[in-house]
Amino acid sequence: MSLGNGKRTANREKRRELREQQNPELEVLKDRKLVREEVNRRLVSGSKTMTLAYDSLFNYEKASLNKDSALLSLLFDRMFFYRLNEKLSGLTCDHTLRLSDQILTQMQFSRGKMNEILEVLKRNGGHCDCEIIYNVESQLIGK
Ligand SMILES: [Zn+2]
Repeated sequence: MSLGNGKRTANREKRRELREQQNPELEVLKDRKLVREEVNRRLVSGSKTMTLAYDSLFNYEKASLNKDSALLSLLFDRMFFYRLNEKLSGLTCDHTLRLSDQILTQMQFSRGKMNEILEVLKRNGGHCDCEIIYNVESQLIGK
């Protein structure tokens, strides 16, 4: 492991400690309207003001094993995968990145940044919307 990776891991640990200090009781937002507002705020501006039940799914140890963890964690924090799950529910994936593209546009990434993100998603097994959930989000959450 390079020095750079070690440093990233240390930073991640620090971030988790900070987060735990900020949310000692982890007050989870339950009101549906407030949840929706928080999700939209994170998607558009990236500002995290309240704790969502979804946040606790994130597995730092597991995510940090991925060499794209910085970008993938950012997408998780900004609710990209959450929104993709919402959009896919009740639909059959048409095996394109159509929905992901819509969400990244809503997130106001530049075209260049979007292309970079899509490359990272593909590299991690996300060649279409459903594969992003099955192959990429799954590398960040759970055991
Ligand atoms: Zn698919």
